[in-house]
Amino acid sequence: MQRILVSACLLGEQVRYDGSHKRSRHPILQQWVAENRVISICPELSGGMPVPRLPAEIASGEGGEKVLQRQTSVVDSSGADVSHTFIVGAQNALRIARLHEIHIAVLKEGSPSCGSHQVYDGSFKGHLVAGQGVTATLLRISGIFVFSEMEFNDAHNMLLHLEADGIASPIFHKP
Ligand code: SF4
Repeated sequence: MQRILVSACLLGEQVRYDGSHKRSRHPILQQWVAENRVISICPELSGGMPVPRLPAEIASGEGGEKVLQRQTSVVDSSGADVSHTFIVGAQNALRIARLHEIHIAVLKEGSPSCGSHQVYDGSFKGHLVAGQGVTATLLRISGIFVFSEMEFNDAHNMLLHLEADGIASPIFHKP
């Protein structure tokens, strides 16, 4: 059975920087939970950050690719560089995905870790720009299909496609 990696905050876990969650009640997610397909991950907690914590954004609105290449930083609202924690969290998410032979992830949009289409621009003024977070980037370049919480239908279609093809092992290389 294909398992699916899902952002912990979408599952109602109070792991966001302010201790809140972003529970999704989408019927497809509820179906996956009932089928025991869902593996929860909060990359920021996995990387060692506490709850609560200061909000963080990718500096200058650049994407997770530049963070992984050490060409830009993730900074919190005090200006501290928290890039290392975000990279460790992304690596942990990938390790868990590989452990469970996961091909599909649904991650919270807008996050400097989990955002898959948009991230905040580094100004801490609530401005979104096109880009992806550090974890979404690392998962994608490792061969995992990453969707946002606005794309449950697309993710489910991918799941049906993979299961119809009988894909049961990772399409990416294990280290
Ligand atoms: Fe949610 Fe991802 Fe942020 Fe954790 S890192 S709170 S899972 S968006």
